[in-house]
Amino acid sequence: MNVERELKLLEKEPAEQFRCGYCGTQVPSYNPQFGICQLCELYTDKSAKELKKNAQLTDLLDSLQSSIASGNQNDALKSFETLFASTKNAGVLLASAMLHLSIADEEFGKRDYQTPNGYMEENSAHSKAALAHYSSAKALFFKAISVADMEIKTNPDSNLLYIKFLSQLRLGQLRGAKNSLEALNANAKGLPITLYSNLLYSCAMNDKKLVPPFEAVLQLGTLPAFYYYADFLANKNDLGAAKKILIKLLKYAEMSAAKKLLSGIERVQTVL
Ligand SMILES: [Zn+2]
Repeated sequence: MNVERELKLLEKEPAEQFRCGYCGTQVPSYNPQFGICQLCELYTDKSAKELKKNAQLTDLLDSLQSSIASGNQNDALKSFETLFASTKNAGVLLASAMLHLSIADEEFGKRDYQTPNGYMEENSAHSKAALAHYSSAKALFFKAISVADMEIKTNPDSNLLYIKFLSQLRLGQLRGAKNSLEALNANAKGLPITLYSNLLYSCAMNDKKLVPPFEAVLQLGTLPAFYYYADFLANKNDLGAAKKILIKLLKYAEMSAAKKLLSGIERVQTVL
């Protein structure tokens, strides 16, 4: 792998723009066929215009996104509930869980260890809020798996398998995730979402002897894959390259995990 070459891929702004049908995020992508949402990591090949054909869905997604943009996270979470009530889609549960995770990260980030004891209470309030969001996320991932399972029985669609796989991965259920990945590899071999899933699984396994299939997946041109690449480089102590990639990535797409990794790298660099 060649970091300079991978960085070159991020030089130009992604020309394609999709919209996530599960959380309403605008999804930039280098790939003209599809993108992976930077908030919920779900697959989308729909433009905002195409999604508009379903006016009710678009209205809900718009209001969800405007809540997120104005910082009203609780309203956004309520919109997810309304969206699930009308769609019964496992992907909506997963997207909602991902928003809980990003709020939890934000709450943890608000803790302040610089100020004297007087602020301890505030720190503990942030920790408590973060833990509550983590447990809500966990419950939603479990629910997403059971809803996906029900549907997979009659419709073993690759998207549903991916939703199940991603939820299992986020719950740390590596054995279950491996089974779902095998089903994806058997049912939908060669599809971009299958390639992407193999990358995620390989990153989660963190096996030092194996190099995750970055080359093939980065060429697909979806933005979140670059986060995993940066994380991989950071684990190999190549902090400079990881940082460069994250800064470019965050210019195009707001991704909570990427922000968290970048601030972690910057903290380490200040200490060094
Ligand atoms: Zn999304």
